[in-house]
Amino acid sequence: MDYCELVNILYRLGFHLASKTIQVRMELSACRPAMRLTLPAWIPGSYMIRDFARNITSLKAYDAADKQLSVTKLDKQNWQVDCTEGELVIEYSIYANDLSVRSAFIDSSLLFFNGTSLFLRPIECDVESYRVHISRLQESCCTNWKIATTLPKIATDSDGYGEYQVNSYEQLIDTPLIAADYDSCELTVAGVPHRMVFCGYHTGDLERVGRDITPILEEHIALFGELPVQQYLFMTMVTGNGYGGLEHADSTALICSRKELPAYGNESVSEDYQRYLGLCSHEYFHLWNVKRIKPSIMQEPDLGNEVYTPQLWSYEGITSYYDELALLRSGSIEIVAYLKQIAKVVTRVTRGTGRELQSIAESSFDAWTKFYKQDENAPNAIVSYYTKGSLVAFGLDMELRQQSEDSFSLDDVMRRLWQEYGSKGRGTDDDSIEEICISLVGDGIASFFDLYVRGTAELPLERWFAAVGISSRIRPKSGDGDDGSASASQPDEAAVAKVSLDAVVAEHPAGVLLSVLYQDGLAQRAGLAARDLLVAVDGYQVNKKNVDAIVSALPLQQTVKLHAFRDGVMLELDVVTEETQLSTCDLWPTAEEQLSDEIRQRRQQWQASLAANMAGSLND
Ligand SMILES: [Zn+2]
Repeated sequence: MDYCELVNILYRLGFHLASKTIQVRMELSACRPAMRLTLPAWIPGSYMIRDFARNITSLKAYDAADKQLSVTKLDKQNWQVDCTEGELVIEYSIYANDLSVRSAFIDSSLLFFNGTSLFLRPIECDVESYRVHISRLQESCCTNWKIATTLPKIATDSDGYGEYQVNSYEQLIDTPLIAADYDSCELTVAGVPHRMVFCGYHTGDLERVGRDITPILEEHIALFGELPVQQYLFMTMVTGNGYGGLEHADSTALICSRKELPAYGNESVSEDYQRYLGLCSHEYFHLWNVKRIKPSIMQEPDLGNEVYTPQLWSYEGITSYYDELALLRSGSIEIVAYLKQIAKVVTRVTRGTGRELQSIAESSFDAWTKFYKQDENAPNAIVSYYTKGSLVAFGLDMELRQQSEDSFSLDDVMRRLWQEYGSKGRGTDDDSIEEICISLVGDGIASFFDLYVRGTAELPLERWFAAVGISSRIRPKSGDGDDGSASASQPDEAAVAKVSLDAVVAEHPAGVLLSVLYQDGLAQRAGLAARDLLVAVDGYQVNKKNVDAIVSALPLQQTVKLHAFRDGVMLELDVVTEETQLSTCDLWPTAEEQLSDEIRQRRQQWQASLAANMAGSLND
């Protein structure tokens, strides 16, 4: 037989803090002649080739008699060992210095890794079990470290050191592990134990985080109707200024900044704290929508190469829609705080002309080389399947409600996706969501997908917002930091359009550095380019603080001079001032007395707590 006998693998991990190295001793109970080993090039949930094998700094193989075997490297991530049969040992070292949620990191404050960065996998081999052994780190700074992971324990001490075991490689690389002197809080949601661990310096009120997150998670559980895990772990690395998250089957790895955790004694939800709650909400929603409901092609993905799908808009866009909506439905935030986030998203989407060139289905497909590899031209060339995807999800929700006379909503689509795909382990096809929508409200909904998912038609946002009694307006950008706003009632008349640089700038001691230039904006029309150092506008020296005021004070239809340096050479450029094309979105709830009964009821239904409804029906 070509396949080797059933293999059991034990990975023994060792650590060297000073060199930021993780040493792996991989013991295989059996091998086959010319055994091949591989490491993934990407991690599920983050669609970019990262070539994790590039961090392997040495690799050696030994047979049962401890005799060194020759190893041939076949390509960037595949090795072939010159072995015949019997036990096999592979020893390799990994440089671990990426403090992100996607790979591996070790220093004197914490150890964090994803299996995709660490665990070589034998190819064409039936593996019965994968065990991982971690011994306590000997350095004095690690004395108080404990381990947090959802890897199933075999034999561990009270701090989590010892042995873990899983039966599939998929699970092995989907259960990250953190070791640190962390703080934690425990919560029970829907009868299932949940744990939140926080490492890194912070002064946040963690008990409060646990209290606040519970009703948000309950919204997601009520939406899907069941919680398909035995436990759930939030691992948060608290940093100075980081942000990000990655979803896993029964855990998530998060990075937040210190200011996002709530201070003691303050019971309000700040915008920063709202961002952290939204991040937790987002990754938890993925427990269903990505980790279990997933595109067919992602069910057993080729981890050595890109896996293309036009469906990411629904996985990230719909998740982004519900992550914030659950905050509103659970009562964690008020409608104005919710609308402020949505106004920011609308502003971001409408400022980029890339939305006219790329559909969200195309953006999904090209995630590997475009969305994940954005350059200074990104707003002019691509659209985000997250931000625009969340607006399309909102629009789909509104269309379903209206076309079914409020009998159905996107909630029903998600429940169907769970029941018919996720819970059955069946992958979604490119038209699965469309088919479900058609079955709910008829063929008329198909044009929605042509226009807004596969097409680049302008989103009729004003109409969609009006469907749930939200008023909206798009007005010119009024100054630096004006990125969308919301208010409890109709805001004052918008200021008249002024002149703007129409660029994103960064601070520099001698002026401002241009990082993004919007299509046909003042900076681009003047002939400036990304990375130019702008030093003067109309003869006035500029810096990050004053540039907006100086530019917006310029009269319209006037030729002005800009001075900049490019690669150390002075440029003197003339440009005619025009009204800024950059727009900003304002949202506010339409006054009750202006709403029809139909819209008033729909607004109530749309923002009503599903968890409260569920609890209510259980009490009946
Ligand atoms: Zn996501």
